[in-house]
Amino acid sequence: MNKRDYYEVLGVSRQATEDEIKKAYRKIAMQYHPDKNPDNPAAEEKFKEAAEAYDVLSNAQKRQQYDRFGHNGPSMGGGFQGGFNMEDIFSRFSDIFNNQQSSPFDGFFNRGGGGGGARRKGSNLRIKLRLTLEEIANGVEKKIKLDRHVSCNSCQGTGAKGGASLRTCSSCQGAGQVKKVMNTMLGQMVSASTCPTCNGEGKMIDEKCDACQGDGRTLSKEEISVRIPAGVSDGMQLAMAGKGNVPPRGGIAGDLLIVIEEIPHEQLQRDGKNLIYDLTISFPDAVLGAEVQIPTLEGGATLKIEAGTQSGKMVRMRGKGLRDIEGYDRGDLLVHINIWTPQNLTKPERELVEKLRDIKSVTPKAEKQGKSFFERMREFFQ
Ligand SMILES: [Zn+2]
Ligand SMILES: [Zn+2]
Repeated sequence: MNKRDYYEVLGVSRQATEDEIKKAYRKIAMQYHPDKNPDNPAAEEKFKEAAEAYDVLSNAQKRQQYDRFGHNGPSMGGGFQGGFNMEDIFSRFSDIFNNQQSSPFDGFFNRGGGGGGARRKGSNLRIKLRLTLEEIANGVEKKIKLDRHVSCNSCQGTGAKGGASLRTCSSCQGAGQVKKVMNTMLGQMVSASTCPTCNGEGKMIDEKCDACQGDGRTLSKEEISVRIPAGVSDGMQLAMAGKGNVPPRGGIAGDLLIVIEEIPHEQLQRDGKNLIYDLTISFPDAVLGAEVQIPTLEGGATLKIEAGTQSGKMVRMRGKGLRDIEGYDRGDLLVHINIWTPQNLTKPERELVEKLRDIKSVTPKAEKQGKSFFERMREFFQ
């Protein structure tokens, strides 16, 4: 197999500094990161190729050998020839991937210049939003009040009085991490841990800002407008990027997570995009047929009850349900018909019903019972 030149792989010159090599590798690793390129073998190949190149060029000794002997150098056959696996890459270059969850697209160093301290992401805010079925049916614009941590104005988020520049941490020289180098059979292994002196920030404050006590943030009451799409359901979570908390002393804001809570409707029951309504009609209406009003999310609709309707019948009112969140599809309103059996009759009423009892067609016919309630339900929901 013809290997590409390692410098070419990383897109750097042969005179590139250690820092340039690291930056170039980060860029490529993020571009072809498996999380961003699922099921993409070509991206995976590039990701591995870059890791191999970086493995050699980031190590002074290996780089020197590579410069002299190319791919056939004496130590090029090391532990990684012919295939880095993903675990190797992530564990070996953990410092490259550590901060990846913040935002790979934002670059890795915050506030430019200073060098140390990887860009961090603040915590997410989570709020519950209660919505009526009517609001869910059409989608709705909601105003949400929240208290969130924002960058402190007095110190521009640095936490230092007057926004003074911070002192580089002497324990880690601003890296935010302390590294331990171990020699193993596979070569040098570098393990990194958070610097205890500066808590990984790489910087120290000489005099704290009065407004935020060095936190770099203040609490702000905000009202934001959120457009909720039609068809959301209970427990669903919508994320608004960058509307969460800013982390202490600089970084990018977390997200606002809006958890949908559905307020139960008084008359309509929801089943996915369908609605169910339990209708009770009188015996004469069931026998003779009638027109009844059905509550819907649009105010109401008329349903024609056919003469001879049996108790337990389900009637589908097409398109009177909820919109599907994924598309333009609309659910139905399923009306479950019950027949009211009168109770506490007066004497004349009782006599009337006694007469009905004698009518031949009032007697149920076993063979004409039709399908059971459960069979009908199954038919409707499949
Ligand atoms: Zn401040
Ligand atoms: Zn430190």
